[in-house]
Amino acid sequence: MANGRAMVTEAAVRAALSTVRDEERGGDLIGLGMISGLTLRDGHVLFSIEVDPQRGPALEPLRQAAEKAVSAIPGVLSVTAVLTAHRGAGPSAPAAAPAAAPRAAAPGGAQSRKLPVAGIGSIIAVASGKGGVGKSTTAVNLALGLVANGLKVGLLDADIYGPSMPRMTGITGKPNSPDGKSLDPKENYGLKVMSIGFLIDEETPMIWRGPMVQSALSQMLRDVNWGQLDVLVVDMPPGTGDAQLTMAQQVPLAGAVIVSTPQDIALLDARKGLNMFRKVDVPVLGIIENMSYFCCPNCGHRTDIFSHGGARAEAEKLGCDFLGEIPLDIAIRETSDSGQPIVVSAPDSPHAEAYRGIAARVWAKLRSGAAPAAPRIVIE
Ligand code: ADP
Repeated sequence: MANGRAMVTEAAVRAALSTVRDEERGGDLIGLGMISGLTLRDGHVLFSIEVDPQRGPALEPLRQAAEKAVSAIPGVLSVTAVLTAHRGAGPSAPAAAPAAAPRAAAPGGAQSRKLPVAGIGSIIAVASGKGGVGKSTTAVNLALGLVANGLKVGLLDADIYGPSMPRMTGITGKPNSPDGKSLDPKENYGLKVMSIGFLIDEETPMIWRGPMVQSALSQMLRDVNWGQLDVLVVDMPPGTGDAQLTMAQQVPLAGAVIVSTPQDIALLDARKGLNMFRKVDVPVLGIIENMSYFCCPNCGHRTDIFSHGGARAEAEKLGCDFLGEIPLDIAIRETSDSGQPIVVSAPDSPHAEAYRGIAARVWAKLRSGAAPAAPRIVIE
């Protein structure tokens, strides 16, 4: 808690939310049991509103009203409310404070054989069926979106063949090793970062990198002084080959997020990503549609270049959640490529808000354990 700032309590947040009514259901958000995953961190408030998916878009005013009511509490620095699909009568309502103790990965199969990493709450992978879909851009903005929501976050760049995190996070130089064995992560924008790009020369021929993949990943995960983290985001190498599968097998992943463009969805590349995680029993937390539509930098006009909305429909078909859409906008490219990702360089922009919303949805899923054990694949 920061000095001198009014302390925000869960009771105050609940009281504020009990003034917000869902008129259609004839009650308030607390009374109707619609709030889950409530997280308070140093004045940052995060929660989800569980709704019937049928009502989805019509509930945006309710979501905004909830954010507004909580923002008015003295001491609140930021509020992120997200709408999530109501999960039926099953076990829900996670505890209010984030788990302090390290949590092992999801139970079952291959996951239970992997050792958890001390101090890290959940490890999630950001993956894509192929390269160039904006996986790394999404990973860094998602990680910073989690930071903006008050969480302690690390970012592990496992894209050994094309590490982009030094550039995207604006970090240069080699990491310190206090004892000659472990490495301190580098840090910028409140995010702890480790990348193979900090350790090897960009000129190192690719051929040497292959054999390094396994040992490098395990070192970057376990020999780095991450400290206490709520979430470690792993930027996976693009594609779904053996190297990716090995990584998914080695890291105790709590879940995976698949980044996809509309064309990629159409070409079923995203489905390969889903299948890969399914093979190794890693729950897929959902799909993010990147470059979803084009935003004109001059007039802000929106053009659906590719058939927009495909990811939402595809996610539904595959039985996994749709986490959100990010437009194709030059501001996203310029900021991530210059080491000032949009979530930190333009926090008031709609794009930053979209990334924070996606981050909140991911966090809510990690908290509630609501991720399905494996996606259901529909064969057509
Ligand atoms: P990947 O990790 O999938 O190979 P990157 O994140 O490196 O992809 O993105 C590839 C290029 O596309 C980068 O120059 C990046 O800045 C740009 N880019 C990614 N997402 C967007 C977006 N939503 N709008 C505009 N440019 C984007």
